[in-house]
Order: sequence, then structure tokens, then C-alpha cells
Amino acid sequence: MSTCYQKSLRAFLEQESVIKTKHQAKELHARLIRTMAPVSAILNSKIISIYSNFNLLQDSLTLFNTIDSPQPTKAWKSIIKCYASSGLFLNSLTSFNEMRSVGRIPDRNVFPSVLKSCVQLRDLRLGESVHGCVMRLGLDCDLYTGNALMNMYAKLQLPKAQQPFDEFPERKKQVGSFRNSWMAINHPDEVNVHLISGVGLKDMTEKPIEMEALGMDTVRKVFQTMPIRDVVSWNTIIQGNVHGGRYKEALGMLREMGNSDLKPDSFTLSTVLPIFSKNVDLKKGKEIHGFAIRHGFDGDGFIGSSLIDMYANCTRVEDSYKLFSLLPQCDAVSWNSIIAACVQNGRFDEGLELFRQMLRADIEPLGHSFSIIMPACAHLTTLTLGKQLHAYIIRTGNDENLYVASSLVDMYAKCGNIKNARWIFDNMEIQDSVSWTDMIMGYAMHGHYDAISLFEEMQMAGVQSNSVVFVAVLTACSHAGLVNEAWKYFSTMTQNHGIAPGLEHYAALADLLGRAGRLQEAYDFISSMHIKPTGSVWSALLSACRVHRNFEMADKVAKEIFKIDPEYTGAYALLLNMYGAAGSWKEAQKIRITMRRKGMKKKPACSWIEVKNKVHAFVAGDKSHPFYGQIDEALQDILERIENEGYVPDTSEIPHDVDEEQKRYAVSTHSERLAIAFGIISSPAGTTIRVTKNLRVCVDCHTAIKFISKTMGREIIVRDNIRFHHFKDGNCSCGDYW
Ligand code: ZN
Ligand code: ZN
Repeated sequence: MSTCYQKSLRAFLEQESVIKTKHQAKELHARLIRTMAPVSAILNSKIISIYSNFNLLQDSLTLFNTIDSPQPTKAWKSIIKCYASSGLFLNSLTSFNEMRSVGRIPDRNVFPSVLKSCVQLRDLRLGESVHGCVMRLGLDCDLYTGNALMNMYAKLQLPKAQQPFDEFPERKKQVGSFRNSWMAINHPDEVNVHLISGVGLKDMTEKPIEMEALGMDTVRKVFQTMPIRDVVSWNTIIQGNVHGGRYKEALGMLREMGNSDLKPDSFTLSTVLPIFSKNVDLKKGKEIHGFAIRHGFDGDGFIGSSLIDMYANCTRVEDSYKLFSLLPQCDAVSWNSIIAACVQNGRFDEGLELFRQMLRADIEPLGHSFSIIMPACAHLTTLTLGKQLHAYIIRTGNDENLYVASSLVDMYAKCGNIKNARWIFDNMEIQDSVSWTDMIMGYAMHGHYDAISLFEEMQMAGVQSNSVVFVAVLTACSHAGLVNEAWKYFSTMTQNHGIAPGLEHYAALADLLGRAGRLQEAYDFISSMHIKPTGSVWSALLSACRVHRNFEMADKVAKEIFKIDPEYTGAYALLLNMYGAAGSWKEAQKIRITMRRKGMKKKPACSWIEVKNKVHAFVAGDKSHPFYGQIDEALQDILERIENEGYVPDTSEIPHDVDEEQKRYAVSTHSERLAIAFGIISSPAGTTIRVTKNLRVCVDCHTAIKFISKTMGREIIVRDNIRFHHFKDGNCSCGDYW
């Protein structure tokens, strides 16, 4: 062979980046053996380095073992790196120790992989001893190594409890988004909104800041001792501050970074943007947006997605859309952001449509995408679509993803299929506090005692309780009328778990006392709350006054509500119905006049049902549905049949100046009755009917639906704004207590 050929082979070995494929790497190795055997240890180390770039662990190891000990530092570096990038972190660290024991001195190329392995094994002590080694070698002034050290400290010096969140940064977001979607279901002016809104989740994801600050001290020290800092160093420290919730410091550092000669890059900006979206600071967010445009980052996918998130959190979905449409390239991440933007802001239909578009555009959804879209199915109670997605999730192997499974539990529970929810829950590899909470909340909404026994199991399993799970437990007690148990859990929560009761907890208990007829006790309880009660807490009691026909208390409670919110439509509507039912038409008329003067309208009741993959919505007395004729016919037919079985319409809440026939008609066309009639005529006999309603089911409809379930031989599941009702054979799962 000519020396010229050998020269060119050497040139290849010097310039690793020229080798673009595994095949080329092996080809080069083969030629080397053919032309230069025996190959020197130095040249072999270069081949190993190239192999490790392609993650060819086995080939690297085989070659490594042919070299006489002690192998050159470069070979060790490659082996350590290759182990780490193959996920064999322990092997990587063992090799690091072996390397030192054979007398090879690690250089700046070795430490990043070693520190990465320490992070992955969550071994801070080992990381610290590596830091000692770095200092002894005088490498602590090295930029590359310094960045790796900061990263190690930023990631490892966090309290244990929150580590999973760091591993999966999307978890927090996902939790946030499905809670938000719940909030959107329960309109704030609605009675009992607190029961399932789950605002308390904040407590669950908030970090104990003081402990973390300790970790950041070390990071800062490393940062300060670095003689040269690059964008990565700044990014690491800014990100550390953002993760620890020290936003002021993060922003201060951003400014400082700008003052030094470095310009923030797309990673910096996308780290900083969530601060503004979390604090709903549209003004500052827009400043960053402006900065991004001026510096040519506006086409960047990272930034684009962060901006979409920011605008969505500030409820500016239109701006999110605009940004999305301007992105030169939309990947799964930016699709996720825009879909989440819709779902979080209650635009469920649009979210689902975008998801379909994403699939049509051949963008493969990330595991995370499913947990974003699932709450939309849950909200629209589109069980069919939810099941289709579930099948898709199984096909794409995403069913073992903890967050996806959790969102499936939530979806099935909210679509009224509690059995499937439980099956998925039971088959989850690990159940974390969020999945337990979802499952318990699912049971609570169905009024199952299982909620309470599952909560006991959760305690036995040693899973940490959180504020939301107690909302679920108290809700379950409330739905089952368990006053003593509720008191017990309420005090356990504060005394044993150190969770301060929030509005939802108070509301659940007040609601329970009210339903049990203990109105005075409920009144005293609300009056003694250590946080200021809201209108919705009081209005839970007001609806109890209506059920128990206690006018004196109702007046007292209404006064409290109007002190807090003089425009509380829900309270006026309740009073109006209450006086109407009692035949106090004069009082009722007064309220009607006040409402008119204030420009208030009772919120229209709306029910929806999914038929053949399409969601149909019905409003009380609405005649606009294309099949209205058939629906009306079915309604009359059903009414006649249940009247023959003994059903008597309860028209007590309809003004008395309306004639009997009109009254009978008015109650029979409540929105859930229309939806059920439509369900009956458009599905085969015996199919379960699932209806969702935005308000509480009225007493008359509840009675009528019990009759319908028996007469028509159908299981009917109605989800109202508070809970589920399973009607079967003339009975309801709530035991008429709702
Ligand atoms: Zn009704
Ligand atoms: Zn019921």
C-alpha cells in the first residue's frame, strides 16, 4: 500500500466528523486493519472514539479489549461516554474508576459523561467526589466541565419528592391542563362548582423552595468560580432558578447575561417564557416575544411553542393560533402546544379537530399528546372517541406511559365507565399520587363508597396524600351522606397531614351538612371558616335551604351571598325557584324584577349526548334539532308510558299562572329529557344511554328518568355538574341524595 493511502486514512481518523454513518466507520476500521496491521493503540483509540459517536458499544468494547493495558485516555473516554449514552450508567462509572486505577488521568472530555451518569443514578455523593477529582486536576476552571458540574448540582440537589417532576417536566403541565379543563366544565357561577374543580392541586405541585435554594447555592458557587462562561453556563443557572421558582433571580440573571457580551439563545428564551405564562404576565411575555422577533428567533420551534403556551395561559388563544400559523415548520411539540392551548381554554371541539389535523399531517403524536387531548374527550363525554384513542395508544405502545394511563383513568371515569377506569388503574405499573387521586375522584363522582375504601388503600400503600385527594374523599362522603366520616377526614387532613383546608374542602363539608338538613350547623361552620367564604360556598347551603324549604335561613344566606357578590345570578335563580315552589308569587316577582333590572338571565340548561361519533347538544324547549319532530313524538310516547307506570309530573316550581297541560309539557322538555329521547330513538334497544348536563338535574327529571330506565329497559347514565347518576330498573345510584 502506498504511504499516500495511509496518509489519507490518518486524515479521516483525525477528522471524526467526516465519518457520517456506522457503515463508513466500520469500513474505515477494516481498511486500517488491512493496510496498517498491527494497528497501534493510538489509532485503535481513534476508531473506538468514532464507534462511540455512533453508540456502537459492542464494537467499541471488543476493540478496547484488544488494546494492551493501560489503554490510552482517549479510549477510556470513549468507553465511558458510550456506556453513559447507552443508559448503562453504573458501567460508565465503574470504567471511570478502573481508568484511574490503571493510572490514566481523566481529561476534560471524560467528566461530562461521568457527571451525567451521577445525575441519572441520582447519586449526589458520588457527584461531589467527582467534583473533588475535577478540582484536584484543576479542571474546575474548564468551561465544559464547569457546565456539567452545575447541571449535576441543579438536578441532584432537589428534595426527593419532586424529582419525578424534573424527570418529566411535562407532568406538571399536564396536571395543570387537565385540572384547568375541569375548572372550565364547572362554570364559576354554578352551585357546587367547588366540589370537583380541584383548585387545590397547586399545593401538590408547588415546590418547597427553601430546600432547593440550598442546592442552588452550590450551583451558584460553581458558576461564580468559572473564569469563562458561555451561553450554556448561563442557561443552566437561569434554568435552575426557574425550576426553583425564583423568578426574580432568573430574570436578573437574564439581564446580567445581556450585559456581558453574550446573547440569550432560543433555549434561554424558552426557559424564561414559562415564568410569564405561569404568572400570567402578558406584558413581559410580549416583551420577550418582541425580543425574539428582533433577534430572528420567531421561526424557532422551541420559542414558538413556549410563546403559544404563554399566550394560552394568558387566555389569548387567538394569539396562540396566529403564532402557530406563522411557524415555518410544525413538529409534534408545536402541535401539542396549540392543542393544549385550546383544551386549557375550554375549546374542546377545536382541540379535538386540531388533533385530527395533526394525525392527517402525518405527525406522530408524542406520548404526552394523548394526555393533553384526553381531557377534551372527558369533557365532551365522547366515550367512543376516547375508546378509539385508547386503541390507538395501545397500538403505538404508549399505554405503559404513566401520564397517558392516568389521563385514561380520568377520561373513562368522567365518561361514566368506572369499570374501565379501574381496570387501567389496576394495571398501571406504578401508581403515583396523581393517578390515585384521579381514580378516587372518579369513584367520588359516581357516589361509590369505593372512593373511601380506595383512599384507605392509598394510605396503606404509603402514597402521600394531597389536598385534592381530600376534596375527593369529602365529596364521596357528601354524596353518600356520611357526616361523621366527613368530619373525621376533615380533621385528619389538618391534624395528621398538615394540609390546610381550602375552599373546596369547606364547601364539600358545608354541602354535606346542608343536605343532611343540619342547616344551622352548616351556617355556623361557614361563618367560622378561616378563609373568606366565596359565593359558591354559601350557595351550596342556599340550595340545601331550598331542598329543606327553610325560608328564614335562605334569606340569611342570600344576604351573605349578596354581600360578597351582588350580581350572583345562581343565588337569584335559586331564590326564584324556591319562592315559586312555595307559591310565594309576590316574592318571586320581586326577584324577577331585580334580575331584569340587573340584566341577569338564568343560565340556560344544556345537555349533550354522543350519537354515532357526533356530539348533539340540547337546550330546554329547543326545537332546532333536525330530528325535532321525531324527538317530540318520542317524548310524548315516553311520557304516556311512564305515566301509566305511575309517574306524576312534579310541577311545583313552575309559576301557578301556567295551565296544567303547559306545566306538564314544560317539565317534560328539560334538556336532559330531550337528549335521552334522542338517545332512545337513535340507538338499538338495550344500549346504555350517556348524557351530560351543565346544571344539576331537577327533582322531576330525576323521578322521570328513574321511570324511563325501567319502562324502556335502558341503563341511563347522567353526569350533571356535581356527580353521576346511574339509572337502572327504576332506581338511581345516588339513592335520591344529590
Ligand atoms: Zn328537569
Ligand atoms: Zn340520582
